[in-house]
Amino acid sequence: MIWLVGENIGDCWRPWVLGAAVPGRAVVSTFRLPRPLEALKNTAHEIGHLLGLPHCDARCCMRPVRHESQLVALPLALCWGCQKRLWARQGETLPRGGAA
Ligand SMILES: [Zn+2]
Ligand SMILES: [Zn+2]
Repeated sequence: MIWLVGENIGDCWRPWVLGAAVPGRAVVSTFRLPRPLEALKNTAHEIGHLLGLPHCDARCCMRPVRHESQLVALPLALCWGCQKRLWARQGETLPRGGAA
């Protein structure tokens, strides 16, 4: 389950929080994200966590985001490594040539 909320979910210690996930549940705040594409990227990131993906340092939507400005450069897609991790979690292997 994922909640999309318009409220600020940060606090005085972590005002930049844009989303959070625990197993089975995630929340995404659009409070700091007026543009739909950044909200979509943030949602894709949290869905990745819901599917069991950790943060990733590659050019990938699972890169940790510490500020909303970083969402502009964040890809919407998963990197090759995360795609393989996701397929492995399903007990399958990635089809040949199936991803960039
Ligand atoms: Zn994250
Ligand atoms: Zn990745």
